[in-house]
Amino acid sequence: MTSTRWLAEYAWLPEHAEPTPDVLIETVGDRITAVTPLTPGGRPDAGVEVLVDAIRLPGLTLPGLANAHSHAFHRALRGRTHGGRGDFWTWRDQMYAVTTRLDPDSYLALARAVYAEMALAGITCVGEFHYLHHGPGGTPYADPNAMSAALVEAAAHAGIRLTLLDTCYLTASVDGQPLAGPQQRFGDGDALRWAERVSAFTPDGEHARLGAAIHSVRAVPAEQLATVAGWANRHDAPLHVHLSEQPAENDACRAVHGRTPTGLLADHGALGPATTAVHATHPTSGDVALLGESRTGVCLCPTTERDLADGIGPARRMADAGIPLSLGSDSHAVIDPFEEARAVELDERLRTRRRGHFAPAELLTAASVAGHAALGWADAGRLAVGDRADLVTVRLDSVRTAGVAPAGAWFAASAADVVQVVVDGRVLVRDGRHLTVDVPQELATAIAEVTHV
Ligand SMILES: [Zn+2]
Repeated sequence: MTSTRWLAEYAWLPEHAEPTPDVLIETVGDRITAVTPLTPGGRPDAGVEVLVDAIRLPGLTLPGLANAHSHAFHRALRGRTHGGRGDFWTWRDQMYAVTTRLDPDSYLALARAVYAEMALAGITCVGEFHYLHHGPGGTPYADPNAMSAALVEAAAHAGIRLTLLDTCYLTASVDGQPLAGPQQRFGDGDALRWAERVSAFTPDGEHARLGAAIHSVRAVPAEQLATVAGWANRHDAPLHVHLSEQPAENDACRAVHGRTPTGLLADHGALGPATTAVHATHPTSGDVALLGESRTGVCLCPTTERDLADGIGPARRMADAGIPLSLGSDSHAVIDPFEEARAVELDERLRTRRRGHFAPAELLTAASVAGHAALGWADAGRLAVGDRADLVTVRLDSVRTAGVAPAGAWFAASAADVVQVVVDGRVLVRDGRHLTVDVPQELATAIAEVTHV
């Protein structure tokens, strides 16, 4: 196994309020085997050998960042829907139009480019909330998991880890309207048949693992929620669910079930430490308490929530209730973990007209170790011995970052400042370029393929 010594100008170590200068990070194969802060000026402490063989990492080195909520094909809508009026629901119709163009081949090409774009942004692991399972009209492909396999292969090509959150999507509304039109491709009939299909799928490759998702309380009837939650529980797999992104979902759920969506999930055993609620933009105070008591996580997707006019979730209140927060780029209007992380703080400022709700280290935790944990990778997202050898290095000499204090990089850097990315010990991005994928070219080709009329 390859053994490498990296000398980071600054590295952000776990439980540290700010980055540490001059840190020697040693990796063997896909693991971090030693993390040694040197004495000021980069001189080794006694016991550390001379560093002639160490690879220098100028700038700020972070652990691997996790994108805990993705719908890869939504990337095709970037810049195509943003000038219009309407709301989440009108945007959704445009999103459905793209699904009609996707099959396993075109989705492989698109997702490969999108995951490579993520790699360029420092994302080493993605949670793909995947519901486009079947062919036109809902007819299964010869391999009913062909679309899932395409996404797993796409992540392998792009070089990042993936948790395929296979999503149960059965109905069009809380009161059980059947799927219609493009939605028919999402459905398995009922939760038992969903479970049967998912159980038959084994992701190909060490980079991928399987999780489950309940699309939302709109899409899985109450009496079938426990089937999905039970499958996740039996397989020790993460369970994700869209939750209270829209007030209309809350209203419909109360009208039909007399409960909030969070209450309904609690009733059916779908909350807990392995569960991540995505968005949670409009929870009641009772919902926040239920999520906190059950240690359910929440994945915030601030750039999507702002793009879709969803609202601002109560991030600080949820964190204070004991809810682990993670981050996702969701619709990929933006793929930039720095933008996503600082939006958590900045949105809170807009709401409260006060500054200083989240420490930079808390934002890093959400973007790294908490996101990995939400996706079932308990051994990633920290620059710590035993963790996966993910190193994300950010320039501190770009037009955006020159002169900033390293801890302030969260508020200054963009995805374009990521200069090198190492995933599981392998260099994937060097000098800001993906080593195997021509990302802009492949994005342009793949998106043209699924958007031309
Ligand atoms: Zn989503």
